[in-house]
Amino acid sequence: MRLKLLLPEVQPDHFVLPKHCPTPGCKGRRFYPRQAVEKKIVDAKHKQVQAWRYQCGACGHTFRVYPQGVSKQHLSQRVSGLAVMLYILGVSYGAVAIVLESLGIGIGKTSVYRAVQALAEKVPGMKQSNLLAGYRTGAVGADVTSVRCGGKWLALGISVDALTGMTLSIDGLPGEEAEQLKAWLEPILDAVDADAFKKVSDETGRAQQVCKSHVGRNTDALVEELSALIQTGQDRSLETIGVSSQQALADLAALKKFIHSRQPEEQAELEQLYLRYATARKPAKGRRFDVAYRMRNLFLDRWTLWPRLTFYRTWQDEQGHSKLDGTNNDCERSIGWWVKERYRSMRGYKREQSALNVSRLIAHAGNHLSHGLNLASLMA
Ligand SMILES: [Zn+2]
Repeated sequence: MRLKLLLPEVQPDHFVLPKHCPTPGCKGRRFYPRQAVEKKIVDAKHKQVQAWRYQCGACGHTFRVYPQGVSKQHLSQRVSGLAVMLYILGVSYGAVAIVLESLGIGIGKTSVYRAVQALAEKVPGMKQSNLLAGYRTGAVGADVTSVRCGGKWLALGISVDALTGMTLSIDGLPGEEAEQLKAWLEPILDAVDADAFKKVSDETGRAQQVCKSHVGRNTDALVEELSALIQTGQDRSLETIGVSSQQALADLAALKKFIHSRQPEEQAELEQLYLRYATARKPAKGRRFDVAYRMRNLFLDRWTLWPRLTFYRTWQDEQGHSKLDGTNNDCERSIGWWVKERYRSMRGYKREQSALNVSRLIAHAGNHLSHGLNLASLMA
């Protein structure tokens, strides 16, 4: 995981003077400093700073104005930011409190938790519904992963701009069934750029395309399961279509190789694989699908899906330039970096919202790799 986070600073002499009155509906524009007040803070350098009590000239309301890096919170923004940084690096809430305590910054585990969640809740966008606000891209990558949450696995749907690698949204999903994925994904595709994607979808069908890293993992799992079944030697279905166990194992290994190399021209070889099993019969009603019939379905499905699974390699703009980078693993990278990396290093999120919040925060930080994410921007 690579992140670039900018820590807020505390500058006791630097004030941004108020421009609006906090009273709802008040249009007051003139404010008068009434009194300096001492404010105790938890910070690495300052124990106390001076805040100012201001009064609104229009409605008479008084309110405090704090120096840069300080808010009405007890913790300075620097300490909150430090807690968030450590947590994102995989240190647990309790351990963050211990680390800070050892540096003379005494805050409890609950304050760490609150600081992380408060910041994560401020992450803009990152929700399927927010994409309706006008983000446009020609291609979306999407995948599903799960994080441990309260002893259960919570399915997360992640959408990525396949052209830039930006994470667009992270949403909790009811499950990983195809219908549920479609219900989540279709509105995103419609929102980000229906027209640009329509071109693609007419040729290729988008639901399959966007779930391709899912297809990759799914294929690996099936290859493994079927190979294990063949090796037990108990299934006779391959004999009835005249395919040896050795041949079947080699065919499965070939499929596994293709699904990761994903070259458009491999479709012909997939067809050959399918044809070897084409005569496998569907077992009678009520009987389990045997190995031969399952292999027939697997090869048939991947062979017919192949143009959709590989379109990103051949999709070009009007000038004939490739629109997607050949590896097109932004989605996998996004998931590996922002979500899996995270849950590997922690024991699980306590509640679903916190799992979502933190995943979105990490993805948001990832979107700001080039200039760094200024944590203060999420603390206003
Ligand atoms: Zn006012």
